[in-house]
Amino acid sequence: MAETRYIFVTGGVASSLGKGIISSSIGKLLQARGYKVTIQKFDPYINIDPGTLNPYEHGECYVTVDGHEADLDLGHYERFLSIETRKANSITTGRIYKSVIDKERRGDYLGKTVQVIPHITDEIKRNIKYLGNDKNNKYDFVITEIGGTVGDIESLPYMESIRQLKWELGPNALCVHLTYVPFLAAAKELKTKPTQHSVKELQSLGIQPDILVLRSEHNLSANLRKKVALFCNVEEAAVVQSMDVPTIYEVPLMMQEQNVDKTILRKMGLPIGEDPELIPWRNFLTRRSNATKEVRIALVGKYAELQDAYKSILESLSQAAIYNDRKLKIESVQSEGITTANVAEKLSHVDGIVICPGFGSRGIEGKLVAAQYTRENNIPTFGICLGMQCLAIEFAKNVLGYANANSVEFDEKTPHNIIDIMEEQKAITNMGGTMRLGAFECVVKKNTKAYEAYQKEHIQERHRHRYEFNNAYRDEFEKAGMKCVGVNPESDLVEIVEIPELKWYVGTQFHPEYSSTVLHPHPLFMSFIKAAIEN
Ligand code: GLN
Repeated sequence: MAETRYIFVTGGVASSLGKGIISSSIGKLLQARGYKVTIQKFDPYINIDPGTLNPYEHGECYVTVDGHEADLDLGHYERFLSIETRKANSITTGRIYKSVIDKERRGDYLGKTVQVIPHITDEIKRNIKYLGNDKNNKYDFVITEIGGTVGDIESLPYMESIRQLKWELGPNALCVHLTYVPFLAAAKELKTKPTQHSVKELQSLGIQPDILVLRSEHNLSANLRKKVALFCNVEEAAVVQSMDVPTIYEVPLMMQEQNVDKTILRKMGLPIGEDPELIPWRNFLTRRSNATKEVRIALVGKYAELQDAYKSILESLSQAAIYNDRKLKIESVQSEGITTANVAEKLSHVDGIVICPGFGSRGIEGKLVAAQYTRENNIPTFGICLGMQCLAIEFAKNVLGYANANSVEFDEKTPHNIIDIMEEQKAITNMGGTMRLGAFECVVKKNTKAYEAYQKEHIQERHRHRYEFNNAYRDEFEKAGMKCVGVNPESDLVEIVEIPELKWYVGTQFHPEYSSTVLHPHPLFMSFIKAAIEN
């Protein structure tokens, strides 16, 4: 296929309807037909990126291989499609404006008045087409998800850009609009009025949706869909429903049953061909529904009951559980509440525990108590990033006997700076960029738990942290039984630690959860869950 096709996914009526899942599902179906697909998200907020956003407001910060701090929807894109996204796949209004303002300061606009139209909209369009023009990746489809809902003040420049692109690109651009059909219990009726209004709003901005996806908790009759089609100027076959399903991974199949992919291809003038069978995908879903026995994992983190804060970790654990024919049972344990007096009550009954990543000192004591408890009681333990740092600090305190062992992040003056900022990193800090971000190489030592999992020596994993294991303590740790089994070959920084004597006690400075996908569960999570089941 020579030309790149563009699919825009917008939303109306309410937020959180699952635009990211619909985008991913459409991407999945097109990819299964042999097309090369990428998905991009525009977030209408003014932050340059979500790196500094509070997880309470915005869930986890996802990290791409090229070191961009991105919206968590990129995690869905990668998990559904097994693709790698990059900085160009996650864009905010802040970044659009910054780039326009930088150009203005450089004099690129030659004295012109800089305005939302055309300068901001041109910058948005440039960012959409940038992926289509990527010489190294010839994409057949670029799917662009617009955050927020139609009618928001913030999303207007995006809508205007879509209007222009649909005009410019003709049949090579298409708009999928996702709305909500509520059920009024008192009247026992499904209501389409909000959808009609939302489409009117979109039309008033000059955009005619080509496909409507109606999210609903109930089955929508053919009549209801016909009515929506009529009121909204959308072909009947292009009005589909998205009912609540037990797992988001069923959504591609639900879309396929309603021929969404075929409708897209037909509307874009592409050959239709056979329906892809999606065999590995269906196998995953079958294993999921057949898994009845549980594996219980405690998630020890700063935020309990906050699903989105540890989204990728939860997904990675769940994938690994399914491939081990188990149903994942998560217990969120807020680390602030863990003390030596109650740790057994909170953790003794689980099969394994994950000590979560994080920033700041809140809840650190509890994480250290948890690490000590699972080490002394030989419960499979996976420390990720800050979690790995906690495994090391706890080991230094209670095995090496350094009572004041700490990370410089929490105690600048600690005499035993087990975790510290390394010299090279300090230099970067002074230039403003403070974190080690993105994928880095790691060499895994043979005959270790980590090697057993990966089955290879050279790996690449994504990072997002400032502080590092202090190599001055490496020998002491190794002699006392905590081994540094994964090391960055260039910087010699420690990336993986483990205690070989225990069933499974592993910490990684990197975030393996960012690269676990539905069809390729991450080897470390697989091996951790296996150990938890055996426990
Ligand atoms: N706060 C720690 C650091 O900056 C760990 C970061 C993380 O867990 N992502 O090094």
